[in-house]
Amino acid sequence: MNPLDTLIELSSQMELEHAEEARGGRVAPSGSEGRIETKPACFTPKEKRAAFTHSAQLPNGKNIVLLKTLLTSACERDCYYCPFRAGRDFRRATFKPQEFAELFMKMNQAKMADGIFLSSGIAAGGANTQNRIIDTAEILRKRMGFRGYMHLKIMPGAEKGQVERMMQLADRVSINLEAPNTERLAKLAPHKMFIEELLRPLKWVEEIRRSQPAYKFWNGKYPSTVTQFVAGGSDESDLELLTTTNWLMKNVRLTRAYYSAFFPIRDTPLENKSAVDPLREHRLYQASFLLRDYGFDLEEMPFLQNGNLPLPTDPKLAWAQMNLKEKPLEINKAEKRDLLRVPGIGPKGAEAILRARRSSKLRDLTALRKLGIVVARAAPFLLLDGRRPASQLAMF
Ligand code: SF4
Repeated sequence: MNPLDTLIELSSQMELEHAEEARGGRVAPSGSEGRIETKPACFTPKEKRAAFTHSAQLPNGKNIVLLKTLLTSACERDCYYCPFRAGRDFRRATFKPQEFAELFMKMNQAKMADGIFLSSGIAAGGANTQNRIIDTAEILRKRMGFRGYMHLKIMPGAEKGQVERMMQLADRVSINLEAPNTERLAKLAPHKMFIEELLRPLKWVEEIRRSQPAYKFWNGKYPSTVTQFVAGGSDESDLELLTTTNWLMKNVRLTRAYYSAFFPIRDTPLENKSAVDPLREHRLYQASFLLRDYGFDLEEMPFLQNGNLPLPTDPKLAWAQMNLKEKPLEINKAEKRDLLRVPGIGPKGAEAILRARRSSKLRDLTALRKLGIVVARAAPFLLLDGRRPASQLAMF
């Protein structure tokens, strides 16, 4: 198989991995203004269309084109949900580290990909597989001088020294927990050990960050960490997923969790299990951002009796309907932590309100809208200088 065909084989299922702040599927390369086939030299138009890249936004807000792929789709594990599980009948493909590094650099020079998300099936043990990922990253960074974005996957079974080496090469490292606890993981991946193989590496990353100075890491910065859950794959509740997410954000400085709504894959043990509504994935993201950025506690999430979030309503709105509808917030007196609880007011909006209040009172919705507040969402929960603004809403 030539390297490009290998890449196409290996990338074909990578939409299941929510690696960065992805915004849709395949994209034209950066700088091409959407015309993949007009740019440049070393790839044919057919090759350019086939290359599997994704639009992604980095934590600093920069948009890049990310190549998401595996080093190999061969895997000795048998996770129930996974298209790459051992014994599933399909054509496997494998890159050698040098081969992948050369192909990626070719794509990078052709402006087809700015960064890499690199994972792998497990072959000959987690530590051996991890070495191949490290070898690839070292070739790219040390021999080929690649200075762009790199997200490397930690393999179940990796050793602490390998995790440290990955952190010296990558902008982001991650390992997928897949399920929120040991019992749930047993329903999804019976041969993965939740504490020893999945949670421990995330703890190591934080230990290493705390014990070593930043200059020892790539570009003088500590790499961020993320994880991913298969939402609904083990019949777990949103409460279980968010409890683990919250613990990880507080204790090992997880940047964020990704939730991938379960979707059955043909010819796997879970092929007859129903797909999970993608809206559940969206509600989990909203709730996790309330925990991370808006000062909400887990206990404040509007969980239903079954431990799930209501699907029809955004969790912040559900909270406000229960807590602010009868006791609206006076916008001219509220503290930042309370402003953040109002639907339609985000961190930037809350700051803008505090700044504007220093010069004059906020008396109408027009003034709020100028500050970037989504007034149609916020108005039912606010008082403007002692008055409910409901009568002004028709103007918006
Ligand atoms: S270890 Fe990873 S690649 Fe292998 S079966 Fe499990 S989820 Fe799939």
